[in-house]
Amino acid sequence: MTNPDILITGATVAAEVTERGASGVADAQAIDLRISGGRIIERAAAGTLVAAEGERVIDATGLIAMTGLVDLHTHLREPGFEQSETVLTGSRAAAAGGFTTVFAMANTMPVQDTAGVVEQVQSLGDAAGYATVRPIGAVTEDLAGERLSEIGAMAQSRAAVRVFSDDGKCVHDSLLMRRALEYVKTFDGVVAQHAQDPRLTEGAQMNESALSSELGLKGWPAVAEESIIARDVLLAEHIGARLHICHLSTAGSVEVVRWAKARGVQVTAEVTPHHLILTDEKARSYDARYKVNPPLRSDKDVLALRAAVADGVIDIIATDHAPHPSESKECEWDAAAFGMVGLESALPIALLSLVNEGHVSWAELERLLSQKPAEIGRLEGHPTSLEAGQVADLVLVDPGASSVFSLEHLKGMSQNSPFLDMELPGRVAYTVRRGYLTLDDGELVAAADVAAAARNAEAAL
Ligand SMILES: [Zn+2]
Repeated sequence: MTNPDILITGATVAAEVTERGASGVADAQAIDLRISGGRIIERAAAGTLVAAEGERVIDATGLIAMTGLVDLHTHLREPGFEQSETVLTGSRAAAAGGFTTVFAMANTMPVQDTAGVVEQVQSLGDAAGYATVRPIGAVTEDLAGERLSEIGAMAQSRAAVRVFSDDGKCVHDSLLMRRALEYVKTFDGVVAQHAQDPRLTEGAQMNESALSSELGLKGWPAVAEESIIARDVLLAEHIGARLHICHLSTAGSVEVVRWAKARGVQVTAEVTPHHLILTDEKARSYDARYKVNPPLRSDKDVLALRAAVADGVIDIIATDHAPHPSESKECEWDAAAFGMVGLESALPIALLSLVNEGHVSWAELERLLSQKPAEIGRLEGHPTSLEAGQVADLVLVDPGASSVFSLEHLKGMSQNSPFLDMELPGRVAYTVRRGYLTLDDGELVAAADVAAAARNAEAAL
């Protein structure tokens, strides 16, 4: 079987909208794209390509086309925590959000610290077909921070792991961090650090500030993040290895990364959508949907993070999609789990906090959410543009739409979103992975059809 060809007509290409601010979109030239056998095979000026028989035609007039979004930081929870999310449900959430690839964090049960477990996760993703699932390997055995995991075996496995992280926990031991950097350097891998000094954050519940004292919640100081980043950029410089910093949350972290980049350290940094828009003031409600690791910070930090995205100190946006069942969130703040779901809301929040505020252009947004995370993760086959010959991983977005974000938008298993009931801009209309639709006019394509299309695409590519 082969998947039907797709003709996309009249789309505006994000890469050509290089002006910051809303004006650029109207001036950009529209195009037609023809997709066959998993790839873009033709690209021409809008109105040029004629539909062939049996071809699916998508009228993309007024929509913006980007290469498929890539999330370097997703928690899919399977194996072990299937009451929160599975590879299937998490990749459905990804497709709904415009993502064609997610990197799955290692804090599963068993932990993704052997070739067997990472291969299992990758296979589950391949079978589901809603997104390419690239497993992240644990840095230390069982995330215990005591011994290095089988990094080489995971790198050489069928899953060809390139990103290693103990995320959820910090690799706190300096010698282990050094050894991990030395190891990944041998195959051009990267260590993604969850920067949190464990001693400085024992029992911590929210950003350390006058507000944490007022609310009686134990404070989480900015220096607990910044001191680990400072140590690790020095280690990365010393070893000459690649380091990635997960979820930057403070103005001070931005300054440390800026300093390191100026010295030529091979460091990249991510920010989550929620840290670009929410502040610690949300803790006043004691609503545990706002409890997250690292915590929501101050206004000043939010502005510094946005500015760092605009000036390139922060390289990517990553969701830290962290599903939890309602019983873990609908309880007292102190007892609640850390984390928020984020795949379905990432693009709207990026539009709201960055594009609509004039901090980045659509072209820059594509770098932040697609090209650059693919580069950091050494993702093979990801399209570098929407030119003929590239793999057809792409998303079509309606920039003018807006809606109240509701439970209907959430396609994963958990509902712990801090954005429910907010009016959010933009609509992910179509997601195309390897030349077949996973999201069709805002609706997820049925699981059996996606699984079959994924097998066809695998055979064709
Ligand atoms: Zn983390």
